[in-house]
Amino acid sequence: MRNRYAKAIDQKATELLRELDLLTVPVNVEEVAQKLGAELVYGDLEDDMSGFLLREKGVVTIAVNKLHHPNRQRFTIAHECGHLHLHGEQGDRLWVDKAYSTIFYRDASSSSGDKLAEIQANQFAAGLLMPEALLTEQLPPELSDVDIFRLALRFQVSEQAMTLRLVSLGVLTES
Ligand SMILES: [Zn+2]
Repeated sequence: MRNRYAKAIDQKATELLRELDLLTVPVNVEEVAQKLGAELVYGDLEDDMSGFLLREKGVVTIAVNKLHHPNRQRFTIAHECGHLHLHGEQGDRLWVDKAYSTIFYRDASSSSGDKLAEIQANQFAAGLLMPEALLTEQLPPELSDVDIFRLALRFQVSEQAMTLRLVSLGVLTES
C-alpha cells in the first residue's frame, strides 16, 4: 500500500514536471534530467549496472547503461533524477545503481539510510514517468492485460513498472 511518504514523493515528481512544463505523456525524461542541470552520458556499462549519478564540484553527470532496453534506460534516468531532486542536499557524491536497486527496492516500511534513498528514488521515478493525474485519466473502467500493455507503451515504461505503479495506486490488487 502507498503510505503518505510515497504520496509526498509522488507530488514532488508531479510538481517538478509542472514547473518544467513537461507534464505530458510520454514524459521526456532526458529533458527533465537536462533541466535539472545534469549531463547525460550513455555508456557501455556492466550488465548488472543500471547507471550512476555523479555530483562533483557543481558538475552533475548521469550515466546510463546503453545496452539496456530503452524503457529501462528511461527508468534509470528518472531514478537518478530522484537522487538529484530529493537527495541533492547531500552535496558531492556518487550514487551507483545496480540493477537490483532500481528494480527491487520498493518497500519503504523498514528501511534506513542508503536503502531508503534507493526506495525513494524508485518511487520518484515511478511518479515521474507515470504521473498519477495523467495515468488515471487514461484508465478504462475495467483493466485487462492488454490495457496494461497499451498503457506501458504509451508511457514508455516496462509492463512490470506499469503493473507495480497500478498496484501502488490501488488500481490493481497484487496477485
Ligand atoms: Zn539509486
